[in-house]
Amino acid sequence: RLSKRLATVASFIPKGAVLADIGSDHAYLPCYACLHGYVSKAIAGEVADGPLRSAQQQVEKAGLFDRISVRKGDGLAVIAPGEVDCITIAGMGGALITRILDEGKEKLAGVKRLILQPNIGAELIRRWLFDHGWELIAERILKEDGQIYEVLVAERGDARRPYRHLEAELLLGPFLRRENSEVFREKWQRELLHWKRIIADLAEKGESEAARVKMRELEKKVQLVEEA
Ligand code: SAM
Repeated sequence: RLSKRLATVASFIPKGAVLADIGSDHAYLPCYACLHGYVSKAIAGEVADGPLRSAQQQVEKAGLFDRISVRKGDGLAVIAPGEVDCITIAGMGGALITRILDEGKEKLAGVKRLILQPNIGAELIRRWLFDHGWELIAERILKEDGQIYEVLVAERGDARRPYRHLEAELLLGPFLRRENSEVFREKWQRELLHWKRIIADLAEKGESEAARVKMRELEKKVQLVEEA
């Protein structure tokens, strides 16, 4: 059985899509997507040898080697322009996911949907999507084994559409903020506590300009979250 986290990602794969799962590791997601009829064909991309082998083994074990192509490479280097129409990138930090998208921009031709699951730093991804004409069309937040995860789904369109309060919602997520679920509130209560501890630390020992800049940044974020 797939984790709740990856099952949530899979639930957004359009039926009949040609999928690339980047940073696939064990390839659970493309295998699941094939076995459950979401996709007929998929590519599992991996940059590291260990996870690449584990993807190959999993695909072999599931009898899917004729439908899932396991490829080694950095980010979107494993796909050709126009080859896939849906990309999933899950289980990494927002900065890495953003770098993969940015460095692979020319490979996004023909891609209709991005499904991104950052473990941290979703804000960086929302900003990248916003700046590159991708419209956020759905978001999920979920908790599994004590960890809180976000899933962002985007298609080409009007990148501004979901946003009413841009700065706050790039941070919090426009859909998640409006939904205001228990898990969402828990996430931001945790973050607030964490930031306030850092601010207190900086206030105690931070004489430098860098410390003051960092403090002001965090105070602004605290304000955005508290207002929301
Ligand atoms: N996507 C799976 C999931 O969500 O369960 C695996 C997540 S795992 C924590 C992250 C994987 O991304 C690792 O297997 C790592 O080797 C791979 N990875 C990291 N940077 C990558 C890159 N630039 N291109 C492709 N894969 C990458």
